[in-house]
Amino acid sequence: ITERKNYTDRLEKTVDERTKQLREALEAEKELNDLKTKFLSLVSHEFKTPLTGILTSTMLLSKYKLEAQQDKRDKHIETITSKVHYLNNILNDFLSIEKLESGKINYKFIQFNLSKVVNEVIYNANMLLKEGQKILYPENIDDITLIQDEKTVELALSNLVHNAIKYSPEQTTIEIIVNQDTKNTTFKVIDNGIGIPEKDQKNIFNRYFRAENALLDQGTGIGLNITKTHLENLGGNITFSSIEGQGSTFIMTIPNTVK
Ligand code: ADP
Repeated sequence: ITERKNYTDRLEKTVDERTKQLREALEAEKELNDLKTKFLSLVSHEFKTPLTGILTSTMLLSKYKLEAQQDKRDKHIETITSKVHYLNNILNDFLSIEKLESGKINYKFIQFNLSKVVNEVIYNANMLLKEGQKILYPENIDDITLIQDEKTVELALSNLVHNAIKYSPEQTTIEIIVNQDTKNTTFKVIDNGIGIPEKDQKNIFNRYFRAENALLDQGTGIGLNITKTHLENLGGNITFSSIEGQGSTFIMTIPNTVK
């Protein structure tokens, strides 16, 4: 009888374990399906508006044939260019995810000067600034060098600066502060923008997540997720603090030298 009881107990335990595994697998599959649905609706939604804009502009371009209509033609070429850039950026984000997940990223570690990276980020950011926005950034960082993947450091910083611009109104200042100690280099990107609602803060690094107050701006909710993964791959990390309606500070830290 005791043997039999032991046997039934073991059997019950196995059944319980199997049920648990099955439930977990089903949950994981559901999560994956949810992500896929989210991805598809995001792609169609994000692509539809710019594509409609491009289509309208190309149709109008062929209408404005006269010399005197050059201004109108230029305006439509500008619209097409900026929308194609936007779509290209989104595609690059998607491709980065694919690359990061399939482990296809080859970081290239070289020694580089931080001022080069900061200048490049500022140069590109200047084109995105809204009316009256300005960026304060350290100008005497010529002596700061890193041995890291230069392109990834630039991508991470530029993601933070682009967000600061996008999620801040006109006439505001964005500040970049850089510090280096013996081990790490820290970048702070401070804005006086819309901030992140407290209830959304825990999700901000989740893929495709966008806070409620950000939905008026275009975005995919991919940038911060990619930035965090890259920084962690390089031995660094990213944190933030934010008050809704007042602004946000994003802090990324990266080791000076790859280990
Ligand atoms: P995206 O900007 O394309 O939506 P991100 O992954 O870069 O995607 O950011 C995710 C979300 O985090 C944004 O949708 C926004 O809600 C919030 N966010 C990021 N940076 C800021 C910022 N500087 N100020 C306010 N909200 C921000």
